[in-house]
Amino acid sequence: MNDVVNNPPSWLGVMGGGQLGRMFAQAAQSMGYQVAVLEPAADCPAGQVAQRLVNAGYSDANGLDELARQCVAVTTEFENVPADSLSRLAQSVFVAPNAHGVSVAQDRIAEKRFFVGCAPKSGVMPAPHKVIAALEDIDAISDDLLPGILKTVRMGYDGKGQVRVKSRDDVRNAFEAMGQVTCLLEKMLPLAYEVSVLTARGADGESVVYPIAENVHRDGILFTTTVPGPNVSAQCAKAAQDAATAIVAELGYVGVLCIEFFVLTDGTLVVNEMAPRPHNSGHYTIDACATSQFAQQVRAMARLPLGDVRQHSPAVMLNILGDVWFEDGSDTPRTPAWDKVLGLPGACLHLYGKDDPRRGRKMGHITFIAATLDDAQRQLNAACAILG
Ligand code: ADP
Ligand code: MG
Repeated sequence: MNDVVNNPPSWLGVMGGGQLGRMFAQAAQSMGYQVAVLEPAADCPAGQVAQRLVNAGYSDANGLDELARQCVAVTTEFENVPADSLSRLAQSVFVAPNAHGVSVAQDRIAEKRFFVGCAPKSGVMPAPHKVIAALEDIDAISDDLLPGILKTVRMGYDGKGQVRVKSRDDVRNAFEAMGQVTCLLEKMLPLAYEVSVLTARGADGESVVYPIAENVHRDGILFTTTVPGPNVSAQCAKAAQDAATAIVAELGYVGVLCIEFFVLTDGTLVVNEMAPRPHNSGHYTIDACATSQFAQQVRAMARLPLGDVRQHSPAVMLNILGDVWFEDGSDTPRTPAWDKVLGLPGACLHLYGKDDPRRGRKMGHITFIAATLDDAQRQLNAACAILG
């Protein structure tokens, strides 16, 4: 469907109205494209900036058909968009990523199976794991998988839908507490640090891979991304980048894909999960790379040549959660001192237009770019001190 280059000012569509859709729209618009967003919420970060908001559910046939009529290509900003909706769109418009890639990434069982099948080419395996679909499966768990993490197979994100378990009884209790939805039990691995690799593949099969990013999580949510990663060896970076290139090719994927890896204390690289879209750990590319991950998504879906992934400045990205609106113990939000944060050298602030700060909610991010990583980190520490 639609195998021609789509130059601006044609219309590009995005499924989902969150911050990833917003930054996608901004990148597309800066290149002269027009953007339509399909999203059920009337006020949403992407809807605030797009030229058109199709206010409909992700499975609403009329909404999908409207989006397809308006646009020459459609992408998605979150992985839980129903794969059937992408298939419906694909009957009349170019869809990148397609239903196959998204359906593998949105199901932890399919994802693990894919990673295992791909291991001869990628050189990396996922964590040892077992599917828990019924209480009986728990009796058959090998001791080797404990302690572990029980994860729901679908809809998990930011550490949600996960319980750490030490014993079979823990697994049973956690499985029951999650309503006995199908889960995956994963062995708890000794992590030295976590990295992610952002890659993009065009419809012609050419792919690019960004520098490896080192990620720190707090309470299951990404806290900082540092590029280049202070712990990452050249050998680890190459292995992760080669793995990402093999994975994206094996999937036959078109668009931006981010792959998360664990690096274990003995140096082993383990593939964790993938996101079929731009990723929080790739936000640094907006300010520190020749082509941002969002501009790259535009290029892939419009069948333009992929952009230069060169990083021009060391960068540290800090997620801004709703917590910084609340002084200790207070329930009344107040505006954080953005003026002071923006007074720090190399500060690039991105707020997502959400008017309802809540603790744990992603409200924005700030990237510090500098001549050296040390300088960027110093400014980030100063920002943390200001924001509290
Ligand atoms: P999410 O979809 O919530 O991002 P992840 O599978 O990435 O789910 O898990 C969230 C975090 O939990 C990871 O970034 C890592 O810090 C930790 N984690 C997940 N799986 C394991 C594991 N098998 N061993 C050790 N830590 C893990
Ligand atoms: Mg993750």
